[in-house]
Amino acid sequence: QAKEQGGSMYTIYSLLSQNDEHKQLMLENDLRDALETDQLLLHYQPVIDLETGLLKSFEALVRWKHPKLGLVSPAEFIPVAERSMLINDIGTWVLETACRQVKEWHAVNSDIGLAVNVSIRQFRNPQFPDLVKDVLEITEYPAHLLILEITESMMQDDWESIRIIDEIRTLGVKWAIDDFGTGYSSLSKLAFLPIDYLKIDRSFTMEMLTHPPMQSIVQTIIDMGRNLDMELIAEGIEEAGQSLLLQHYGCQFGQGYLFSKPLPAEEIEQAYCLTTLMKVH
Ligand code: C2E
Ligand code: MG
Ligand code: MG
Ligand code: MG
Repeated sequence: QAKEQGGSMYTIYSLLSQNDEHKQLMLENDLRDALETDQLLLHYQPVIDLETGLLKSFEALVRWKHPKLGLVSPAEFIPVAERSMLINDIGTWVLETACRQVKEWHAVNSDIGLAVNVSIRQFRNPQFPDLVKDVLEITEYPAHLLILEITESMMQDDWESIRIIDEIRTLGVKWAIDDFGTGYSSLSKLAFLPIDYLKIDRSFTMEMLTHPPMQSIVQTIIDMGRNLDMELIAEGIEEAGQSLLLQHYGCQFGQGYLFSKPLPAEEIEQAYCLTTLMKVH
């Protein structure tokens, strides 16, 4: 009887996973069209200097306007793209589109930086360093104003990761560790990574005021980053109190809904006066 029950459980399970797989396949097929039919777009979220309140850079965040499903979150389709290798094409599109856009804004403010998320498949693609170089050339985007974001779990304990980071760094490009503090990684790894920025994960920022022991953790991350000559960016700042405390601990930069949600380029241009008079079309 137990076997029978197990059997029916298995049937239910396989039905569920089949549906799941079906959904994945459907998304994968749709995603293939998405690039060619302009369904992907970028939103930009400002990164702010917490002390001066001035704009430092934008993080480009990809969006998918699915013809039937509406707006699909990158948290949902980036993993699909990763499994299907579409991520290389999508990643290149994101990098090139964002560089072109911010390069345009440089006509008004030539100091604005740009952060672009890089997934593990892109990072491990042997052509990635050349690809970054090509995009910088084609778009004439200044390398020193580009930040590539990777998560700590992507960094295996190997010299290959360090070599890739270094190779792209020689172009002048900066590197950030995204979502810091949430991945599985040993702190010793950090001592070997040539990284310019640590991004404190949103989960720390979120709980700082409601759970005071979290303040000690955040303070320690900031001190460690600074001692390693890295600059700190706090993610997910939603309240002024969080911003003040982070600044007090020595975190220089922050992003979050307190300052702005990620916005389409047109809205960013209006909010930050980035339209050029010459642009009449
Ligand atoms: P991430 O790189 O850590 O980006 C930050 C996420 O936090 C974004 O979600 C952003 O909208 C959200 N966020 C920013 N400020 C706040 C806040 O104050 N409160 C809250 N609750 N959320 C905030 P989003 O845009 O949905 O992106 C999710 C993740 O998808 C990103 O996390 C990144 O890992 C990935 N992603 C997005 N765009 C790309 C891309 O072009 N390429 C790759 N490989 N991954 C991407
Ligand atoms: Mg990011
Ligand atoms: Mg992040
Ligand atoms: Mg995050």
